[in-house]
Amino acid sequence: MPFAATVLTLYPEMFPGPLGLSLAGRAMAEGKWSLDTVQIRDFAADKHRSVDDSPAGGGAGMVMRADVLAAAVDHVLERRPGAPLLAMTPRGKPLTQGLVRGLAAGPGISILCGRFEGMDERLFEARPILPVSIGDYVLSGGETAALVVLDACVRLLPGVMGAASSGEEESFETGFLEYPHYTRPQMWEGRTIPEVLRSGDHAKIAAWRKARAEDDTRLRRPDLIERHGDARRPPPSGAQREDEG
Ligand code: SAM
Repeated sequence: MPFAATVLTLYPEMFPGPLGLSLAGRAMAEGKWSLDTVQIRDFAADKHRSVDDSPAGGGAGMVMRADVLAAAVDHVLERRPGAPLLAMTPRGKPLTQGLVRGLAAGPGISILCGRFEGMDERLFEARPILPVSIGDYVLSGGETAALVVLDACVRLLPGVMGAASSGEEESFETGFLEYPHYTRPQMWEGRTIPEVLRSGDHAKIAAWRKARAEDDTRLRRPDLIERHGDARRPPPSGAQREDEG
C-alpha cells in the first residue's frame, strides 16, 4: 500500500502545491504516495459554516472550534484508522529527522492545519492527536508546516530518492550536520576544492568528511553535539541507561 496523506484544512487549494513538482511530484505520479484533502468547513453545523469563535477569556483573534474540528477529525480517523494524526501548532513537539523517519515508515499520516489563533485545546485532550511544531517561529497557517512534514516524509519513501544511501549520511541522521559539498569547477573565484577530495583515497575522504561534519556541528549547532554526546556518554555509575534495556 502506498503512503497515504490526508490534510485537514480550510485551504485545500494549497495542496499538493510544491509537492506536485520534482521528486515528490514524480513519486506521486508513479503511485508511491497519495494525497487527499478534507475541507474543515464542510463539518460546520450552522448556516454560515462557521469554524471559529472568539477566545474564551478575551483577547485578539479567533479560535478554531473543538466541535467542528472533532467532526472533521472523526471523519478522517474513521477513513484512515491506522494513520497517525498530527496537528500543526507552534506548541507541539519539535519535528526532527527521527520523527520523520518513524512517520515515513508507517502507512501514511493525517495532518490537521490550524488558522487564526489556533485550535480549542480540548480537541487535543479528546482525540488521539500528536501536536507537532516545525520550529520556533509563527506561521500564518498550518498548511505550509504540513507541506514541510510531507516533503520530509515523502523523500524517505522506498524508491523516491535516487541512491538509497543518500539519506543515511545526511544532516541529523547521525546526530551531526552533514559535511560540506563541492563540485566543478575545481577553481572558482580563487577558491579551490579541498585537496583531499581530489585524492581518490576513500579512507582519507571519509575521515575528512567525518571531521568536518563534527567541526561544523560544534560551531553552528552546539545543541546537537550536546544531545549526541549525552546519548553516547556512559552514566557516571557505569550502570546501563534506562533506554538500553
Ligand atoms: N497563536 C498561536 C501561538 O502563538 O502559538 C499561533 C497561531 S498561527 C498564527 C496559526 C496556525 O499556524 C497554527 O494554529 C498552526 O496550525 C500554524 N503554525 C504556525 N506556526 C507553526 C509552527 N511553528 N509549527 C507548526 N504549525 C504552525
